[in-house]
Amino acid sequence: MPSALVLCFHRVVPDAVADDYWPWVERGSAITVSRFESILDHISETHRWIDEQEAADRLVRGRGSAARTCWITFDDGYRDNLKVAAPILKSRGISPTLFISTRVLQAGFRLPVDRWYSALLVARTGFGSPFASPEARMALLAGPAKQRFVRARKQEQDILLQALMSELGCSDSPDHRNERTIEYLRADDLDALCALGWRIGPHGASHELLHTLPEDALEAELMESHAALDGLPGRSLWTAWPDGAWNPAAAFAMKRIYTPLGYCGCLSVEPRCAAVTDPAWAMPRVIPCRENGWACDGPAIPPTI
Ligand SMILES: [Zn+2]
Repeated sequence: MPSALVLCFHRVVPDAVADDYWPWVERGSAITVSRFESILDHISETHRWIDEQEAADRLVRGRGSAARTCWITFDDGYRDNLKVAAPILKSRGISPTLFISTRVLQAGFRLPVDRWYSALLVARTGFGSPFASPEARMALLAGPAKQRFVRARKQEQDILLQALMSELGCSDSPDHRNERTIEYLRADDLDALCALGWRIGPHGASHELLHTLPEDALEAELMESHAALDGLPGRSLWTAWPDGAWNPAAAFAMKRIYTPLGYCGCLSVEPRCAAVTDPAWAMPRVIPCRENGWACDGPAIPPTI
């Protein structure tokens, strides 16, 4: 039965500056160059690299052998994808797909998760004590307050961010800080990625969790993000759920809206290989991080993959 290991990365950062990106690194959404290369080395021993067209043939149309294959994807739209990851992938002949939340192309916009992490970076620079233990750090990075924040609408997020800052003893707004660590792709970078063989698809416009939206707002997000990429020479056949979060009603609506525009499916996040038996509009994708059983200092693929 045709299947594929679909890997989901977000950021790849140089080893020497990894500490500057600690919230992303600790959460598994940024990995160092050395770890990225070691994962690629390890997978290339057992898998053949495929691009999104072959992934569609295998996973949606059921065409292809039972051979082990791997498709590399990136989410969100960070500039390190072009500056750091793209040369590494090019040298290995790998053609990845990027799913971009298209409002990152607009000046001043920040993804919700980056507003939260920016607050933590500002607070750590000024104080430090809330981050004394790994448990305290992880509570701030991934605990209930953060979960509530990423699910909230923008207005509520502003209030929650203020509450976080005062809890951490900071008054300084994090929204215009950490320009270097939070840098997104620009419109001409997308052309550069396409020229390197990347395909680029929508990941919502604002990264709101699409399945939590009323259907008209869901449709607006899908159409805005599609329109921002329409005409791009390397536009993807695929799209991806923000945070991998979906439900059957949202998948049904997405299929209705996106199929006539030429899309073949949508990727979620689940720690297992994708197969033709999976629903095309919620195809599993693996984030290679500690939580999913990927050894933290070695590239071993977990036995479940
Ligand atoms: Zn995302």
